[in-house]
Amino acid sequence: ATLALDPRLDKNTSQFISGDHRMLIDGKFVHAASGKTLPVYNPATGEVMAQVPEAEASDVDRAVRAARRAFDEGPWGQFSANRISASQRGRLLNRLADLLEQHLEEFAELESMDNGKPLAVARAADVPLAVDLFRYMAGWATKITGNTFPISAGGEYLTYTLREPIGVVGQIIPWNFPLLMAAWKLGPALAAGNTVVLKLAEQTPLSGLRLAELIMEAGFPEGVVNVLTGYGEGAGAPLAAHDLVDKIAFTGSTEVGKLIVKAATGNLKKVTLELGGKSPAIVFPDADLDRAIAGTASAIFFNHGQCCCAGSRLYVHERVYDQVVEGVSKIAGKIKVGPGLDPQTEMGPLVSEEQYQRVTGYIDSGLKEGAKATAGGNGGAERGYFVKPTVLTHTKPEMKVVREEIFGPVVCAQPFSDADIDLIAREANDSIYGLAASVWTSNISTANKLAKRIRSGTVWINCHNVFDAALPFGGYKQSGWGREMGSEVLNNYTEVKAVTTAL
Ligand code: NAD
Repeated sequence: ATLALDPRLDKNTSQFISGDHRMLIDGKFVHAASGKTLPVYNPATGEVMAQVPEAEASDVDRAVRAARRAFDEGPWGQFSANRISASQRGRLLNRLADLLEQHLEEFAELESMDNGKPLAVARAADVPLAVDLFRYMAGWATKITGNTFPISAGGEYLTYTLREPIGVVGQIIPWNFPLLMAAWKLGPALAAGNTVVLKLAEQTPLSGLRLAELIMEAGFPEGVVNVLTGYGEGAGAPLAAHDLVDKIAFTGSTEVGKLIVKAATGNLKKVTLELGGKSPAIVFPDADLDRAIAGTASAIFFNHGQCCCAGSRLYVHERVYDQVVEGVSKIAGKIKVGPGLDPQTEMGPLVSEEQYQRVTGYIDSGLKEGAKATAGGNGGAERGYFVKPTVLTHTKPEMKVVREEIFGPVVCAQPFSDADIDLIAREANDSIYGLAASVWTSNISTANKLAKRIRSGTVWINCHNVFDAALPFGGYKQSGWGREMGSEVLNNYTEVKAVTTAL
């Protein structure tokens, strides 16, 4: 790769980025069988900064067979004589968390270079949240239990359930939080005793490849975790379709989520999906308005709006509409947009040329259909995938910018006049998605009534984008199947077996 790496980067990070990248299959770091590679771009400049292997079906097959062996013959699966204990699984996850924490700065730099996000954000959010997730799941390894049941069948029985790993899990992740999404996927799968083939997003493979090195350094046995780089169609699709994969977990677009479901029908593997969103943020006139303005601005602009739960539909009561829209627009106008490594930067570039075209295309379509930009709009950047934080008003419910997920720093503000809770809930629920929502009010009754009526996996009250390893996260409707994190996710990585003994 020809390199124009930022001189501010730590030497080790630069060396890693410009090094010879290999995937992890069966405990070994390897190139694609074809020798093919794919380019990795620096989103702040649009230049190629690395080449990583381009996995294809034969590489996927190698990785799946390695994971299959590690599960069926040990040492990871539950049936082999030489299997490692639940407590050892927890210790390995804890060791991985410790190693990641020791390399916090390096991972923050990799995330910033690869995804474009500000270094300070990666340092304060992405990496520590990933560390915390691994620690939280390490604790679960020894606490996944079954139950006993007083069954009513005639005769005397002892009945209990076992919670067992599903087997070989394929995992496919997106580019918006590359390391954190890997942690959300690997942590629970491994804690529950599954083996894994993880496919990283082609836009952002660097932190996942470095994590693969730490996984081996932590001492995970060969074949338990396999990490692939490649395109969706070339590597993701064969993983989703593979007959030796027992479960597929996917995070990304709703469109590809539907392809995953189709691909999984061959062997009816289990499927969980974490998909798109068009989350409402609803502001009542009795809210602490300073807080609501700052909070709803951050709801959409955090991570450049590249969050599946971004508060992209802003509903404000007409009495405070002008004040809130002006406040959010003012914040938008002040956000310092620049390269992620620049310490002054508050918002980096979008992840790729494709996302840049998509997001600016949406802004154009909104403006063409009659929306007005009170902040942002298109234009300005000479190079790199920079988009200004944008606030659109005069939008209508049927416009594309209101209905479809933009996945960029663009919010559509709309007033509501009637404070009837059911009407507001209906408007908030008027979406194919149901991932998250936030409600801003000082009235606990309003807040909780609305929380009950909104059809989404998360409702935040007087906050937005608050995540925790202990809290389940996922979608109603077309935002997905199943939940990530918390104890809830373990249900998606285990099978339940009922054992009945006639005594
Ligand atoms: P995507 O769904 O195309 O890609 C996500 C992952 O799926 C990547 O690893 C990709 O390689 C893989 N993939 C793509 N096609 C596949 C296929 N046919 N079979 C198996 N795997 C496949 O998402 P994207 O192109 O990166 O982004 C497009 C849109 O998706 C965004 O604008 C946004 O709306 C949405 N998105 C949502 C999330 C989320 O967290 N919910 C994250 C990223 C993107």
